[in-house]
Amino acid sequence: MIIVVKRDCDQKQLDNLLKWIKNQGLGVTLSQGDSSVVLGLIGDTPKVDIDLIRSMEIVESVKRIQEPYKSANRKFHPEDTVIDVCGHKFGGDNFQIIAGPCSVESERQVIEIAKAVKKAGANLLRGGAFKPRTSPYAFQGLKGTGLELLQKAKEETGMPIVTEIMSASHIDLFEKVDVLQIGARNMQNFELLKAVGKLKKPILLKRGLANTIEEWLMSAEYIMAEGNKQVILCERGIRTFEPLTRNTLDLSAIPLLKELTHLPIIVDPSHASGLSRLVKPLSLASVGAGADGLMIEVHNDPKNALCDGAQSLRPEQFEEVVKGIDVMLPIVNKKRV
Ligand code: PEP
Ligand code: MN
Repeated sequence: MIIVVKRDCDQKQLDNLLKWIKNQGLGVTLSQGDSSVVLGLIGDTPKVDIDLIRSMEIVESVKRIQEPYKSANRKFHPEDTVIDVCGHKFGGDNFQIIAGPCSVESERQVIEIAKAVKKAGANLLRGGAFKPRTSPYAFQGLKGTGLELLQKAKEETGMPIVTEIMSASHIDLFEKVDVLQIGARNMQNFELLKAVGKLKKPILLKRGLANTIEEWLMSAEYIMAEGNKQVILCERGIRTFEPLTRNTLDLSAIPLLKELTHLPIIVDPSHASGLSRLVKPLSLASVGAGADGLMIEVHNDPKNALCDGAQSLRPEQFEEVVKGIDVMLPIVNKKRV
């Protein structure tokens, strides 16, 4: 962290600032220029309150040169993290496809969809049992029964399960779930992040509706700081001024995250666009941008889906998307296994 001190500060103010910095347990280097004094802070600077320093009377400006996240930072872990879910790998040169309905609606529905997406090339099954809906009057999911139906679909197809957890008080119910999803609305539910950080299960961490990349990585950091290093990031679009799509897919986040973190990053083009006809082009664009996988909503009867029918692909449309992905994967040196 670098602090530029105001030109007209007096020695007593500067001494007080230096004392304050040392009391924070940090080292400091001082460069006296012709017109300004520049302080370089050394040590555990992520803990320092940058806004507090900025508010000090003698401070002209302050800048972080080290990111506030450590465990997720590629600087301290140059190799890609590869996360194994029942033999299916996320990260490195692997490409994974997660597919399934927005919500589990019935045994027949989830098993039929699971079989179809597996046949088309998905390795993992998604399906919401606890649904975060904007309206309290909308379908809230089958909850515990939904989790049991996902388990049945896993027994029928062998596909590992990805499903959203909304409350730390539900953790025991999720014992047999293979990947716990933290939804966009809970990206900064810090108590939930800490709770899943204590588990030994992969966590799919979606980006918040209006969160920066750094805030998202800090949420990953919450999970990792508790000991769980198995975090998969999922870009699902962010809120912008554009009303024609449900969200705006932030494609630039993918290559940028590849620089900043070693964690795998996948894309959810379904929630990003809200429109099934945009799912294929956005999927292919995500592959091109370097994503490690995709999570796609597929329904056997989108018109009658209880949730997110407009963005759900029919199984045969999903199959077409996978065909397109397979054409592109060799270009980005990834393999779907
Ligand atoms: C979902 O994947 O079912 C979901 C609710 O997504 P998001 O949290 O990204 O809105
Ligand atoms: Mn959905």
